[in-house]
Amino acid sequence: MAQRPPILDALVVGAGPAGIGTALALASVPELTFGVLERGQIGQTFLEWPSAQTFLTPSFTGNGFGATDLNAVHPETSPAFSLGVDYPTGAQYAKYLRSVTKHFQVPVMDDAEVTAVTKLDDAFAVETSRGPVSTRALVWAGGEFADPTLPRMAGSSLTVHSREPGAWQPRTGRLVVIGGYESGIDIACYHVERGAEVEIVDAGTPWDAGTGSDPSFRLAPRSRIRMNAARATGRLTLTAAHATGVKRDGDTWVVSLDNGTKATSDSRPISATGFGAGLGPVAPLFSARPDGWPELDEDDQSTISPGLFLSGPAIRHGGLKFCFIYKFRQRFAHIARVIGERAEKDTSALEAYRAAGMLTDDLSCCGVECAC
Ligand SMILES: Cc1cc2nc3c(=O)[nH]c(=O)nc-3n(C[C@H](O)[C@H](O)[C@H](O)COP(=O)(O)OP(=O)(O)OC[C@H]3O[C@@H](n4cnc5c(N)ncnc54)[C@H](O)[C@@H]3O)c2cc1C
Repeated sequence: MAQRPPILDALVVGAGPAGIGTALALASVPELTFGVLERGQIGQTFLEWPSAQTFLTPSFTGNGFGATDLNAVHPETSPAFSLGVDYPTGAQYAKYLRSVTKHFQVPVMDDAEVTAVTKLDDAFAVETSRGPVSTRALVWAGGEFADPTLPRMAGSSLTVHSREPGAWQPRTGRLVVIGGYESGIDIACYHVERGAEVEIVDAGTPWDAGTGSDPSFRLAPRSRIRMNAARATGRLTLTAAHATGVKRDGDTWVVSLDNGTKATSDSRPISATGFGAGLGPVAPLFSARPDGWPELDEDDQSTISPGLFLSGPAIRHGGLKFCFIYKFRQRFAHIARVIGERAEKDTSALEAYRAAGMLTDDLSCCGVECAC
């Protein structure tokens, strides 16, 4: 009879910042058995970023004064220190993740894709491209990059999503970008800087300053500086309208807008319309909030599959979005503590995350409001 493999205390799926960060917190719990499965390589998503793309959150070595580098996934590390740059490219950030993984000896198995997950009474049966695994707790950290969202309109397949390399190929003449938040401003500025004439359309006008202070709802200063420079060339137009359809007309693409006008593109329009939750094979194990994002309890655990946790940018609690690394890393140590306590291990070492400004377990204090 085939021997049943041992049951892990915790299994993390995905070796991006969320997966590596959560695994590092799990490593602070002595005697916990855990591992990370990654379908590609460590930092796979960042290796797939277009080479021109950089972080918009700056790195700076403020560690030691409670201001841990915004892009760090462990309190004792800083991409600014190890990479020597403040706005890493994808390739640079993947290098940081590899070095952290190696330094802290995080057990990562690459080329191991999770293809199916079944909830059993007290464990999860996980099917992977490298064989089955059983675990008591499962942390989904599969990221959003594999789940691009196109606009809901006729002809959206005629557009190219901003995550695709084709969106970053050189463009001449007029270009329409649908979506005006961070990724829309980023790719529009990229093409304006190279000579194209770009029109961004977005009914929500996310480029406006607004009144809130939370960067999840307000352009980063660096994006605003770039946008203003692009507008000063006269080659960036911002249109407050919703795209309702795209049609091909000879050599051009015509985007219909809900204000009755049309925007014309001399190459494929770009959809900078964001990402979904990217839950892959665990999607049926979460229930959905009315806005479609996964429903989580106060421990970032599925409300219908106890023991299944979510780590990463898809975390939502009420109106709070945890879509940046400095936000979702606040939950690494919390998730690790819940898992550790259930396994009856000593979790006291995780308090070091709080001292480093990397642990929020009281979600009521997360609002961002700056007086000036
Ligand atoms: C274009 C872009 C720019 C961004 N810029 C910033 C920024 O400047 N600052 C910031 O803080 N945040 C930024 N974000 C948001 C967020 O920090 C990133 O999306 C980040 O990559 C999320 O980390 P993650 O670990 O959840 O996901 P990922 O980095 O995508 O990692 C997920 C990993 O899971 C693996 N995986 C997925 N499915 C499976 C499976 N079935 N089996 C095994 N492995 C699997 C993937 O291969 C991948 O390596 C940006 C996001 C995007 C898309």
